[in-house]
Amino acid sequence: MAKKNLIRRSWAEPYKMKMVELMKMTTRAERTKFIREAGYNTFLLRSRDVYIDLLTDSGTNAMSDQQWSAFMRGDEAYAGSESYYRLEAAIQKFYGYKYIIPTHQGRGAENILSQILIKKGDIVPGNMYFTTTRLHQELAGGTFQDIIIDEAHDSNSEFPFKGNIDLNKLEALVKKHGAAKIPYVSIATNVNMAGGQPISMKNLKELRAYTRKHGIRVIHDMTRVAENAYFIQQREPGYGKKSIKSIVKEICSLTDGATMSAKKDALVNIGGFMAINDHDVFEEARNLVVIYEGLHTYGGLAGRDMEAIAVGIEESLSDDHQHARVGQVEYLGQKMISYGLPIVKPIGGHGIFVDAKAFLPHINQEEFPAQALAAEIYIDSGVRTMERGIVSAGRKPNGQNYLPKLELVRFTIPRRVFTQAHMDVVAESAAAVYEKRKKIKGLKMVYEPKYLRFFQAKFKPLG
Ligand SMILES: *Cc1c(COP(=O)(O)O)cnc(C)c1O
Repeated sequence: MAKKNLIRRSWAEPYKMKMVELMKMTTRAERTKFIREAGYNTFLLRSRDVYIDLLTDSGTNAMSDQQWSAFMRGDEAYAGSESYYRLEAAIQKFYGYKYIIPTHQGRGAENILSQILIKKGDIVPGNMYFTTTRLHQELAGGTFQDIIIDEAHDSNSEFPFKGNIDLNKLEALVKKHGAAKIPYVSIATNVNMAGGQPISMKNLKELRAYTRKHGIRVIHDMTRVAENAYFIQQREPGYGKKSIKSIVKEICSLTDGATMSAKKDALVNIGGFMAINDHDVFEEARNLVVIYEGLHTYGGLAGRDMEAIAVGIEESLSDDHQHARVGQVEYLGQKMISYGLPIVKPIGGHGIFVDAKAFLPHINQEEFPAQALAAEIYIDSGVRTMERGIVSAGRKPNGQNYLPKLELVRFTIPRRVFTQAHMDVVAESAAAVYEKRKKIKGLKMVYEPKYLRFFQAKFKPLG
């Protein structure tokens, strides 16, 4: 029998380090005190008290030498900044949208777009809600309707495209309310709240055909479009040999406009934009942006920020970059699976989502199992994660709690920031907490903000 080749061929990051940021180590006793003072909400911790910060991948990216160099080129003119034109050109070239409005971050774009397109009483179907997206849709008078496929709500389903839209659910809404009541379908690529799960090109094409027939727009939350394109390249028949660049362009071509949080895919620390192909909508957006963000050639951003986004967009579309980016998430996920931890499968693009209902079956959802688990992981190792469950889901306009099927703790991986050794420490901490899971108790909420409560709510341990 031929001898098996036992040499492992590892992949590694397509970059090296030129500068490092020192971190502080804390003791368990200190962390127990810090999390109590933070009301058991990891958003209320001070970052100096955090060791490995996996709270979010938003704005936590490490910029490249090219991006820092571009910073110096920032044209800080109030009006007509060259940096704006460079950003516009990058968006047109790599995403293909015609008109763009820069905004301070994604929600600034969501605010403007929702105000323009949504009328009171409208229905906005989408592939799972996102916190700020849905809130702006509601503030504009619309009602969000989830039309993602059922598999997305099942943390055990290994379906490769859990971000897909169920066209039957969309058809039912069109039948019930009429296409005129649906200003657009809100589709996210690599659906954040489903665990970083992609939508397939096939599904997008079917959605495009259906919405064209009914005269309904498709608006693209393109915050993680490049990560979605990576999964299409890896999983969808016919796309294995296509570049991420070309797949991203094709995705965008199937939609009418977009909102973008550049703090994710685009490898910067702040920024976003709205993009649209319809000139009338663009005109209205240009009117609104001056109220909320700033002039239409800076939208709340410094010239240097727009430069860094323009460079970051191109870097994010590199096949090598995405292979390492998603590969690191995959590495952490596989390690957790090897310890028997219940995580959302398939492993997503921007983080690992631990199933808190399966982790802590003795805590019912109204006692915030994911919130309690995130606090416990911080106490164990100083690793900061966040809740994505009943707290994040918030309340319906009628005051009742949304009861999401998924009750998750998100371990989000910033881009180009941590090493494989950090991932080992994280997985080992989660496994150590799993061993003592029976001792973990639920929480009660003692302070609840009116909007986006997960950011600032406070809790106390039960019992
Ligand atoms: C982060 C995010 C947003 C909002 O963007 P901000 O830059 O945080 O305002 C919108 N949609 C998705 C899917 C996101 O992940």
